[in-house]
Order: sequence, then C-alpha cells, then structure tokens
Amino acid sequence: MRIGFGYDIHRLVPGRRLILCGVAFESPVGLLGHSDADAPVHALCDALLGAAALGDIGHLFPDTDPRWEGADSLDLLAQVCARIREAGYEVGNADVTILAEAPKIAPHVPEMRRRVAAAMNTDVSAVSIKATTMEKLGPIGAREGIAAQAVALLTPRP
Ligand code: MG
Repeated sequence: MRIGFGYDIHRLVPGRRLILCGVAFESPVGLLGHSDADAPVHALCDALLGAAALGDIGHLFPDTDPRWEGADSLDLLAQVCARIREAGYEVGNADVTILAEAPKIAPHVPEMRRRVAAAMNTDVSAVSIKATTMEKLGPIGAREGIAAQAVALLTPRP
C-alpha cells in the first residue's frame, strides 16, 4: 500500500464562481485560479499523485498551459486517476478536509462525495469529505482564502 498527502490554498475574490469538490456554491466571492480553482480537488490530486510518486498537479497541468484555463478540476482528477491506474495502482480510499470560514459546507457533502467518487471511478464509500473553520484565525479565518488537505491510500492493482 502507498499513502500520499496533498495541500492547496486559493485566494477568495469577487467575480469568480465558488466551486468546491465540483459543487457550485451561492457566494459573493469565489476562488481565484487558472482552472476553476477547486482547492479540495487539487489537494486530492496531489495526495493521489504523491502516493504514486508521480509528481504533482502543477507539473501535470501547468498554469502556463492555456489548455487548463478554466478547467473543471474534476476532469483533472479523472486524468490523475487514469495515470494512477496506468502506474499499477487502485485507489483504496481518500480523506479530504476543507478549511473555510464560509460558506456552510456540511449540507453539500453528500453531493460533493458523489461527484468526486464519480470522477475517480470509485465507490462513494471510498471518499470522505469534511470541513472545518479556522475559528476566525489567520487569513482563512478572515475569509481571504480557502485551503484544503487530503490523504489518499493506493493499493496494487490485482
Ligand atoms: Mg490549486
């Protein structure tokens, strides 16, 4: 078995859609980035790539490449999982934590898990998504950005 860890953070700005784990939120601000800036999915991609020692998301999908401008991060996640399988691994399970002061994430978790699991071509039971605030501490607590952490376990393909 192989384990990997991922982290990502994006700045919150007006005039952008807020997409977290493939779900669009009603929000006056959204995450700034070259793709749709879905920080938890980026963290998950890095956890999966890290577990397989296949580099990182910035290496695979550079923000200097116009192909990834406005990209749906769930599509990037699907490509990452394809690479993982080509390398001889299967996704065991993944656990994602979103660090955000707002919006309320818990009501959307079931839909997030469904979307992420579908992109990964894995069972919903293999995907955990949860959220915590920063108790108003630091830049995330001040709603300047949203961060995410993820761990993923890979098993050898049978
Ligand atoms: Mg990112």
